[in-house]
Amino acid sequence: CGIVGYVGSQSALDVVMAGLKRLEYRGYDSAGVAVLADGGLASAKRAGKLVNLEKELAERPLPTGTTGIGHTRWATHGGPTDANAHPHLDNAGRVAVVHNGIIENFAALRAELEKRGHELTSETDTEVVAHLLAEEFSSCADLAEAMRLVCRRLEGAFTLVAVDADEPDVVVGARRNSPLVVGVGEGESFLASDVAAFIAHTREAIELGQDQVVELRRDGVTVTGFDGSPAEVRSYHVDWDASA
Ligand code: GLU
Repeated sequence: CGIVGYVGSQSALDVVMAGLKRLEYRGYDSAGVAVLADGGLASAKRAGKLVNLEKELAERPLPTGTTGIGHTRWATHGGPTDANAHPHLDNAGRVAVVHNGIIENFAALRAELEKRGHELTSETDTEVVAHLLAEEFSSCADLAEAMRLVCRRLEGAFTLVAVDADEPDVVVGARRNSPLVVGVGEGESFLASDVAAFIAHTREAIELGQDQVVELRRDGVTVTGFDGSPAEVRSYHVDWDASA
């Protein structure tokens, strides 16, 4: 139900966890995070409130990295279990994805992936996206391009945010019929389902349009349509007080 993404020079885990807390009011049943560090990807997820995830992180700390994503889940496909919590990873554990919404055609995509040898370990509609991204990334080595290719095959409503350990300074987001906002900071960039998640860091925001993909880097963002066409970006200043 809430999504946060970060790339910059702060601890991504700290920024993402604080962001998720700001989104708690939306309600959720599970939470999880993934960070890129030391050339790899590390993740943690737990059913229940954020405090369960915090406990898990205290017991098994993640390495510190400056690129990361986080999620609070409101289950639609598969019950609120640790395994169904996001992020979902590909079999190599290089790609992590979080998702709000519903992917209507996930059953057909899942059957296709299983035929090609992928092992899916959750009951969610989301997990197929991690596997599809990994397949596309293996041929194009460009996570934003992989996301565009995957989104063209998805039906339904989705906000997707993903990272790949082979592009350690990039976070990619996409949206269709579900909100996603970009925050543009100085030497850092944010993604969230709601500006409340990053307002403590920046008030320069970009509302992602329908069927668009954003590639987030420290020094800026690139927005395209699902077809790869460059998109016009309208940034605005968030001037309401989000301290409440
Ligand atoms: N459909 C996905 C799931 O059940 C995402 C739910 C959400 O929006 O949090 O895992």
